[in-house]
Amino acid sequence: RDEVSGSGIYGLGKTGGRIPVGIGRRRWRIVVTGGAGFVGSHLVDKLIERGDDVIVIDNFFTGRKENLVHHLRNPRFELIRHDVVEPILLEVDQIYHLACPASPVHYKYNPVKTIKTNVMGTLNMLGLAKRIGARFLLTSTSEVYGDPLEHPQKETYWGNVNPIGERSCYDEGKRTAETLAMDYHRGAEVEVRIARIFNTYGPRMCLDDGRVVSNFVAQAIRKQPLTVYGDGKQTRSFQYVSDLVNGLVALMEGEHVGPFNLGNPGEFTMLELAEVVKETIDPSATIEFRANTADDPHKRKPDISKAKSLLNWEPKVALREGLPLMVSDFQKRILIEDEGKGF
Ligand code: NAD
Ligand code: UDP
Ligand code: UDP
Repeated sequence: RDEVSGSGIYGLGKTGGRIPVGIGRRRWRIVVTGGAGFVGSHLVDKLIERGDDVIVIDNFFTGRKENLVHHLRNPRFELIRHDVVEPILLEVDQIYHLACPASPVHYKYNPVKTIKTNVMGTLNMLGLAKRIGARFLLTSTSEVYGDPLEHPQKETYWGNVNPIGERSCYDEGKRTAETLAMDYHRGAEVEVRIARIFNTYGPRMCLDDGRVVSNFVAQAIRKQPLTVYGDGKQTRSFQYVSDLVNGLVALMEGEHVGPFNLGNPGEFTMLELAEVVKETIDPSATIEFRANTADDPHKRKPDISKAKSLLNWEPKVALREGLPLMVSDFQKRILIEDEGKGF
C-alpha cells in the first residue's frame, strides 16, 4: 500500500467508506481532464506535489504539452491525448473535469464542438465516475449567471442567459453540464462537486486567448495599446490561479456538493484593470477603444459566503499582487515567440 503524507484528505477505511485519515493516507489516482490547459496544469502541479498519481486527458485544443513538460518523466504522471466527447475506460478515485475551452475567442471558434464537449464530454466523464465509483468535480462557470440581474451573484441565483446567443454554446453548455452532474448525483448516487469559477488569471494563460487579462498583459509587454471593449465600464472580479486551485481541492475533499462560487470578490471595471496593468508593466501604455462583443455581461462579482463557511476557503491574492506574478512568464514566452518570427 502506497502511503503519502497530507492532511484533511480522505482514504478508504475498513468499511470501504471514505474516512478522514489525516497523515498517511492511500495514494489517490486522479484524472484531470483538460489538464494541459491553464488551470488544469496548475492543479496537476499541486496534486503531483502532494504525492498523488495523475492522469491527464487532453485533446490539446487550447492546452499545450509545455504546461506539463516538467512532469513527463515522472512515473506517477501520465498524459493521454484523448477527446472527452469519446468514451474512455480508466480506473481512478477522483475525476477533476476541466476539459472545455474557457476563453470566449476559443469557445466561439467552433460552437458546436464546444457544446458537444460540455454535454457529451461531461456525460462520458459522469458515466466513467458511475462505473468506477469515483468522485467527480465539474468546473462550471460564473457564466451560468449570464448578464446577471442580481449583484453580487449568490449560488441561489438562477441567472439571466440568452439561450440562442453567441455565448450560449458555453454558458448553456455549462448549465447542462451542471444538470447532468446533479442528475447523476440524484439518480445514480455519483459523488459530485460543482464549482462555479469566476474570471481567473495567471502564468500559462494562452498569449492569444483573447481574455482581457492576457490581452492587456501581452499588449503592455509588446508596447501595443491596451484594447478596451465598449466603454470599459463593465466589471469583472479577477482571481489568481493558485487561489482557484486551492478552492477546487478543498471542494473535492469536502463533503458538500455545491454549487460553490470560487472567485475573488475584488471588482474592477475594464478601465480600472487597464490602469493596474499600466502601473504594473508600463505606465506609458495607451488605451484604444474597440466595439464590444455580443451579449457581454455588464457586471460580475461573486458572493463567496457559502465557500467561506462550508469549505473554509477564500482567495488570498489581490489583483495588484497577482498580476506581477504572471508578467515574467509572459515576457519569456513573448520573447520566444518573437525570436521564432525572426525579430
Ligand atoms: P483552457 O482553455 O486553458 O483549458 C482547457 C483545456 O481543455 C485545454 O487543455 C484544452 O485542450 C482541453 N480541452 C478542450 N476541449 C477538450 C475536449 N473535447 N477533450 C479533451 N480536452 C479538451 O481553459 P482554463 O482557463 O484552464 O479552464 C479550465 C476549465 O475551467 C474550463 O472547463 C473552464 O470552462 C473553467 N473555467 C475557467 C475560468 C477561467 O477564468 N479560467 C472561468 C470559469 C470557468
Ligand atoms: N462511459 C465512459 N466510460 C466508462 C463508462 C461510461 O466513457 O467507463 C460513457 C458511456 O460510453 C456513455 C456515458 O459514459 O456514453 C454515460 O454512461 P452511462 O453508463 O451513464 O449511460 P449509458 O451507457 O447507459 O448510456
Ligand atoms: N475585454 C476588453 N478587452 C479585451 C478583451 C476583453 O475590454 O482585449 C472585455 C470584454 O468585453 C469583457 C471583459 O473584458 O467585458 C472580460 O472578457 P474576457 O473575455 O476576459 O472574459 P469573460 O468574462 O467575458 O468571459
